[in-house]
Amino acid sequence: MVLKGLLFKRFVSGSVVRRSGTVSNKVLFGVGAAALTASLGYFSYKFVYGNGDDELSLDKFTRYRVSYKKPIDGSHFLMELTPVVKQRTNLWLKLESEKLWSVEVKQPEIMVARNYTPLPLKYDAQSDDIVPLKDGDNAGGKLFFYLKQYPDGEVSRWLFKMKEGDQVELRGPITEYELPRDSDERKRDRGFLFDSKTIKNHDVETFRWRPFDISFYAAGTGIAPALQLTLSEDPFKGKLQLFYSCKQLEELGPLAKYLELLQQNGRIELNLYESSKGNSLRKDTKKLLDTIPAPSKYVPKATFKSNSNASIISPVLSLVCGPDEYISTIAGPKYLQAQGQTGGLLKQKGWNEENVYKLS
Ligand SMILES: Cc1cc2nc3c(=O)[nH]c(=O)nc-3n(C[C@H](O)[C@H](O)[C@H](O)COP(=O)(O)OP(=O)(O)OC[C@H]3O[C@@H](n4cnc5c(N)ncnc54)[C@H](O)[C@@H]3O)c2cc1C
Repeated sequence: MVLKGLLFKRFVSGSVVRRSGTVSNKVLFGVGAAALTASLGYFSYKFVYGNGDDELSLDKFTRYRVSYKKPIDGSHFLMELTPVVKQRTNLWLKLESEKLWSVEVKQPEIMVARNYTPLPLKYDAQSDDIVPLKDGDNAGGKLFFYLKQYPDGEVSRWLFKMKEGDQVELRGPITEYELPRDSDERKRDRGFLFDSKTIKNHDVETFRWRPFDISFYAAGTGIAPALQLTLSEDPFKGKLQLFYSCKQLEELGPLAKYLELLQQNGRIELNLYESSKGNSLRKDTKKLLDTIPAPSKYVPKATFKSNSNASIISPVLSLVCGPDEYISTIAGPKYLQAQGQTGGLLKQKGWNEENVYKLS
């Protein structure tokens, strides 16, 4: 990094010297200037972007710095990581919203790595707020996370202690789940995320093909993939029936407003279970069971119909994300990388291994 910085400076001062050349060596100067400009461009590019090796990849760990960290409560916190070398690849465009993805964070003292789910957000110093990434913006490769530390958690406690400027190493991206995508489908607008006065357009949206719906069961930080799916550029086209269990909504901090916006704009149907308000899944299993719909059949390239019945959700897939005990209750146990059979409440409603996926 230092070496690249020095090279950059040397070529800048070199150009100042050459500019004082005489008229008689104009041609030579022209050729030299072109070569210099090319070199300058090359080294400036390398200075800003590094060589290809600095791009986030699965093969090796890439260096990032903590550029923002904000505790929400004693255990939940937000963290933005900025790559030491600016990233050329726009992962949001590359992976598209149909891929749920994570990155691995390495804890160097004990040499273990854990997965975390980037959100398409960044910290905006001017407004001192968390804002969504605009279309086409990769914020130079910044990655934003919603995190929780556990009392015995090796990596989460280490991350919680990090300060702005500290360095961490990441590897990825890792695709956790991929939804079907119609490449000829229209792009979905997200204007309401940037300007809440934008007309709520969910009843006038048109697509080439009829979107399919999903039920998403999330507990705690298990909400991160649901936010990735619905907040990313050209987000998921169908409706997300979101069952979200937490102690209280406030533990989402500034992210809670995005759930509200998504709900107001018909992108999600939020079923909230806040245990601190006596509305817990454990106590209300019967209520949840009554709310869980039976699975619908996935029909690829189904003819689009106008959203006259937009309030009806017909999920073709159930995604489940949260602690082991939660996953077991909703969909039966998951065994490390193996999905295990579909059990729990979903099985009682007719769901099976074909249409249920346990994310973590
Ligand atoms: C694909 C994927 C994406 C993920 N995305 C995120 C994310 O965006 N944000 C985030 O905060 N985490 C996320 N996680 C979880 C994360 O990878 C770690 O498992 C978590 O931070 C705990 O790691 P640890 O090393 O601190 O705890 P460990 O040392 O692995 O566990 C120590 C103890 O902590 C407790 N504990 C650990 N995990 C949980 C849990 N989920 N629920 C309840 N108790 C637990 C248990 O008591 C456990 O015995 C994701 C996991 C996966 C697989």
